[in-house]
Amino acid sequence: MKILVPVKRVVDYNVKVRVKADGTGVDIANVKMSMNPFDEIAIEEAVRLKEAGVATEVLAVSAGVAGCQETLRTAMAIGADRGILIETDAELQPLAVAKLLKALCDKEQPQAVICGKQAIDDDANQTGQMLAALLGWPQATFASKVVLADGKATVTREVDGGLETLEIALPAVITTDLRLNEPRYATLPNIMKAKKKPLDTVTPDALGVDVAPRLKTLKVAEPAKRSAGVKVADVADLVAKLKNEAKVI
Ligand code: AMP
Repeated sequence: MKILVPVKRVVDYNVKVRVKADGTGVDIANVKMSMNPFDEIAIEEAVRLKEAGVATEVLAVSAGVAGCQETLRTAMAIGADRGILIETDAELQPLAVAKLLKALCDKEQPQAVICGKQAIDDDANQTGQMLAALLGWPQATFASKVVLADGKATVTREVDGGLETLEIALPAVITTDLRLNEPRYATLPNIMKAKKKPLDTVTPDALGVDVAPRLKTLKVAEPAKRSAGVKVADVADLVAKLKNEAKVI
């Protein structure tokens, strides 16, 4: 069984992002970039399935600028067998990524796509769902447990107030939630080995996909600064302030 794992290159989660002065987006010049954390979980899950003898090949795919090669090498250091970069400098929105992944799925014929539930830069939470719709495959999102056997996926999902377990037929799209697993650290020998693994590059044109944006960002702004708090003398003072100043009671 082949598992395809899309991995997105995003601003590292430890970086405090800054909005560009003209409000058109977030400044990513000279900022540390890393693999989207939910995609690390997806790669880890696919590699564990391979180690358990369930999967035979783990294919990592990233769409974006040439720098995404680094993200693919990280995926291969965790254990992916090979990588494909869909190289473009264009701004990619979830629908475009889903179309690119659909074109690759048509070519590669994986039995499962395991992707992150959301990218921490755009917080869209759309690509996996759109991909399942384009492929006409079942989907199980926000997985906290995945079992693949007998042509089926049994997926436990985190939902409001508890857990839900679904059984879906393969091929299917599964998206990962935070508690699915704890990704391993890539060891130095595995980082070295990853440099020798195959990494192919294709373009959106070669896949026959038009990636032109469909949505327009009007404005990006920093959250409003919080004003300093005050100490109240007693409960009566607190109630008076809530009533007269905050006007919340
Ligand atoms: P989003 O819908 O943007 O929140 O992204 C959800 C998931 O789709 C991510 O966790 C990735 O697994 C995948 N994805 C989104 N954009 C890309 C990209 N440019 N390259 C590879 N995978 C992506």
